[in-house]
Amino acid sequence: MDCIFCRIAKKEIPSKIVYEDDVAVAFEDVNPQAPTHVLVIPRRHIPTILDLTQEDDALVGQLYRIAGKLARQRGIGDRGFRLVANCNREAGQTVFHLHLHLIGGRPMHWPPG
Ligand code: AMP
Repeated sequence: MDCIFCRIAKKEIPSKIVYEDDVAVAFEDVNPQAPTHVLVIPRRHIPTILDLTQEDDALVGQLYRIAGKLARQRGIGDRGFRLVANCNREAGQTVFHLHLHLIGGRPMHWPPG
């Protein structure tokens, strides 16, 4: 399977990995939209939110906790940050491997564009 995020998780292509464990990897987004822009992904290939099953409930919780931990480490926990998961075309999903965008370090606008 030719998935760029699977290849990043396997370290087949370079990225700036900032966290990894048995089930998840986090790395710097190559096109950052804020001072902090990290992607948190499961190692397992899950294309979109719509492909999650009940068996993934714990995994999703882990992804959120990892994002929170990274936000704290970067000093944006108290200031505030945003977690974004785009699903399918109209939301702007371009990589079909589930990921959370951890974005912060500047004021955020609402609603998002
Ligand atoms: P999305 O549009 O929600 O699917 O987000 C995909 C994100 O992946 C975008 O923010 C891209 O900048 C980022 N991205 C694509 N390729 C790479 C890569 N090789 N390394 C790091 N980030 C990437």
